[in-house]
Amino acid sequence: MKAFAYQRAAGVGEALCLVAADAGVRYLGGGTNLVDLMKSGVETPTRLVDVRFLPLDGIRGKPGGGLEIGATTTNSDLAAHPEVRRSYPALSQAVLAGASGQLRNMATVAGNLLQRTRCAYFADPSQACNKRVTGSGCPAIIGAHHNHAVLARSAHCAATHPSDMAVALVAFDAVVHYETLDGGGDIPLTEFYLPVGDSPERETALPPGALITSVSIPGPALSPRSRYRKVRERASYAFATVSVAADLDLRDGRVHGSRIALGGVASRPWRARTAENLLLDGPATADRFRAAAEAELAAASPLPGNAYKVTLARNLMVTVLADLAALPY
Ligand code: SF4
Repeated sequence: MKAFAYQRAAGVGEALCLVAADAGVRYLGGGTNLVDLMKSGVETPTRLVDVRFLPLDGIRGKPGGGLEIGATTTNSDLAAHPEVRRSYPALSQAVLAGASGQLRNMATVAGNLLQRTRCAYFADPSQACNKRVTGSGCPAIIGAHHNHAVLARSAHCAATHPSDMAVALVAFDAVVHYETLDGGGDIPLTEFYLPVGDSPERETALPPGALITSVSIPGPALSPRSRYRKVRERASYAFATVSVAADLDLRDGRVHGSRIALGGVASRPWRARTAENLLLDGPATADRFRAAAEAELAAASPLPGNAYKVTLARNLMVTVLADLAALPY
């Protein structure tokens, strides 16, 4: 592991100045992903600026519904928060579906959003990888890609985003708030992750040096019975093969609104707008759920070794929606 300096930031302003002063400086949250990448040589910062002890934690309800979630709130605290469990259960379920208890106790909300892909080529500096070394190639396209993207991938990268939390947050229309030395800004989470295109090394729309300060859910859920379901390769903790977060507004057997997001299928959490639009104002039947899921996945372009994900995503969407529709309303 390359030697590095460590500094605990005394305030947001100091953290911003330290990172702006040197391109080799990185923010440190819980460190559950960054430190692993430093051990393997994927990340080689000269200095870590620890922001975990800044007063950026806590979860507050917003007037009229919605939540403000501090950037350094731990995953464990988010999953256990009474209002999250009561009003946004899909978010709590998503967080609990990720990692282990020990990791969730350390990992922060902002760090979770910024975690890097678990593509095995990315994690191995001896391999080529366009995301790690611009223009070096993407061995996953013709190599091991059974767990890679089937939607919006490019010829340059087919990595998936590994966060469970982000999938539920996308379903709830979450917004990322940040600070820079030039002032603050907001980015809807649906626009936070950049299309992979021909520059997979550019991952988010955050300005250089920006520090995430909070993530907000702008309003109430459609229903207090949202759901997150994840398929993974083993029962102990593992990243999603495919996951679905869904929130349905059902009245008299008809869909008055829905929010659906998929994980494990693209380089970003995938908001299923096509399915949502097809379901709107129609009966909540298995046939319609299947038609909506098939329409959402019609744009899939799987690689030879991961076409199974298209079927899996379709079936998981249908199952989650049918389970929600079967609940007493
Ligand atoms: Fe790198 Fe993306 Fe290709 Fe994986 S899929 S090797 S992260 S460029």
